[in-house]
Amino acid sequence: MLKVEHIHAYYGGNLALQGVSIEVNQGEIVSLIGSNGAGKSTLLNCISSVHPRWTGRILFQGKDVTRAGSQGMVKLGIVQVPESRLLFGPLTVKENLDMGAYLRVSRMTSAQLNDEIDRILDIFPPLKPRLGQKAGTLSGGEQQMVAIGRGLMGDPRVLLLDEPSLGLAPLVVKEIFRIITRLREEGRTILLVEQNAMAALGISHRAYVLETGRITTSGPAQELLDDPRVRRAFLGQDASRTGDPKPARR
Ligand code: ATP
Repeated sequence: MLKVEHIHAYYGGNLALQGVSIEVNQGEIVSLIGSNGAGKSTLLNCISSVHPRWTGRILFQGKDVTRAGSQGMVKLGIVQVPESRLLFGPLTVKENLDMGAYLRVSRMTSAQLNDEIDRILDIFPPLKPRLGQKAGTLSGGEQQMVAIGRGLMGDPRVLLLDEPSLGLAPLVVKEIFRIITRLREEGRTILLVEQNAMAALGISHRAYVLETGRITTSGPAQELLDDPRVRRAFLGQDASRTGDPKPARR
């Protein structure tokens, strides 16, 4: 569905991505894992066309969309939920959600817009009593829900999620990962960037490991969970241990 070919990305003279190619098939959750500074966010920013300097090719459903631009990508249904959420703090939850529909709003009646909001509240019930609250006053978990909800307001076919578990308490992380699985079950395709490799691999079909701007390993998520090098580097586990409990599968 989404094919990213040979991406090079630059910050000034520094090369942050060096020929990265990945593929995400329809209905999959694909994880991109790697340490700090590996280039994960940069890759998502190239796909959503918000990174200013990159080369390579992006195909969406077989069509070359490399030059679609950031709005073009959203129109195609490729929507990014950025790291650190980037909400409009002084605006209410409702206003933040409305903003996610900005490219569709001219084609929608206010009743349709309200239906969309109801759909988001069905996915994120804790937001129901908070529609009128300023987004900047929400808890971290609630802010992440608004950020994903705002992304969903664009009715994405592919959701690019950048570190959705960042800074959240374990129970909230569990809830966010449950919701990501639900979104996949509802037909969304998901590319997930995570430092919480164990949780990400636990809900993913496949995964890529990115190290200093290059893909070094890829394969079915279960294979990566069983790979001693991946376990040592990203799961914080002694590779020689056996019989560890596996995370719940999809
Ligand atoms: P993290 O998990 O810490 O967010 P990441 O894998 O997402 O890391 P990126 O944020 O994509 O990594 O950064 C990749 C490389 O590009 C790093 O070496 C980083 O220092 C560099 N970089 C990122 N943003 C900028 C910037 N605005 N200016 C210069 N260099 C940058």
